[in-house]
Amino acid sequence: TFFDPRISLAERLARPELLELEPYQSARRIGGQGDIWVNANESPFNASAIDKLNRYPECQPKALLEAYGAYLGVPASNIVCGRGADEAIELLIRSFCTPGKDSIALFGPTYGMYAISAATFNVGVRALALDDNFQLPAQLDGVADAKIIFLCNPNNPTGTVLSSGTIESVLKRFDDRLVVVDEAYAEFADTGSALELLDSYPNLVVLRTLSKAFGLAGARCGFLIAREDVVQMVMRVIAPYPVPVPVSELALATLSDAGIKRMRRDVAELKLQGQRLRDALVAAGAHVPASQGNFVLAFFEQVETVAGALQQGGVVARRYKDPRLKQAIRISFSNSADTDRIIALLNGITG
Ligand code: PMP
Repeated sequence: TFFDPRISLAERLARPELLELEPYQSARRIGGQGDIWVNANESPFNASAIDKLNRYPECQPKALLEAYGAYLGVPASNIVCGRGADEAIELLIRSFCTPGKDSIALFGPTYGMYAISAATFNVGVRALALDDNFQLPAQLDGVADAKIIFLCNPNNPTGTVLSSGTIESVLKRFDDRLVVVDEAYAEFADTGSALELLDSYPNLVVLRTLSKAFGLAGARCGFLIAREDVVQMVMRVIAPYPVPVPVSELALATLSDAGIKRMRRDVAELKLQGQRLRDALVAAGAHVPASQGNFVLAFFEQVETVAGALQQGGVVARRYKDPRLKQAIRISFSNSADTDRIIALLNGITG
């Protein structure tokens, strides 16, 4: 087929109707000069204690993109901020997949929202199975017609990471579609980030979030990091004001030097508790794949006994319908008091 190098990858991959679309020009995007702002049907009265809450926020708060860019070592122009990494997943599918025609690819078991997001937009799902070590299968032909390939690294719910070189080989082989590396749990992992590959691969998209290591799940703040052509395409689809003022202010404070230091301290503490939990699970007879996330997936022969004991003890852990995960319980790392209680329950089963 005809290939014009002046046309960006995002333009080649986007839903064709988006290329024609004039994006909604929200009041904050148009901007203007003046000191009387009457272009957005806002109230001049602020009923809250938060400065300017009567005004619509910037579509993409500049200070937040810059702070997060500084944290990652990536220019702000390569970042989109939205309501969690979940919104980024949805935006990618809505930007690049034509309903009823295109599909995404994923490797399961993995995070459920890739498939659910796709299904809600009538986009196909090519689900390939991770191998017994939760690595990519040798045969990737099933991915052939997917517009977007999702890799979750570290993978939820297994906690496993892809072996080094794997992500780059997928980026290379599928250089004519988007490869999304979901790094929601990156701060817990010892392995490097795919962000290092951004300069070399125009098809790379990385997802990050403040929901996990930064402890802001309730704020709903996540990020998509990609080349500018992909960023601009997603900006055609994003809601006019996806980041509420209180959220960007909270997020900014969390991304201060003190906030980042605190996050690193919390991550270190959680990994410590995670090791205690893991040891107790293994002592109780579980098979526990090495996890680089803030959770473990524990496989038990007598899984119902363990699940019942945890439930009886007031511990709400995660089970799955996936036949490969029938014997498994996923437990998030918690503080020392919670971990003590979980360990006591596990010891009660064996002892
Ligand atoms: N990706 C993965 C792998 C996740 O586990 C989660 C949260 N469960 C998300 C994305 C969504 O994160 P957020 O809270 O930022 O929407």
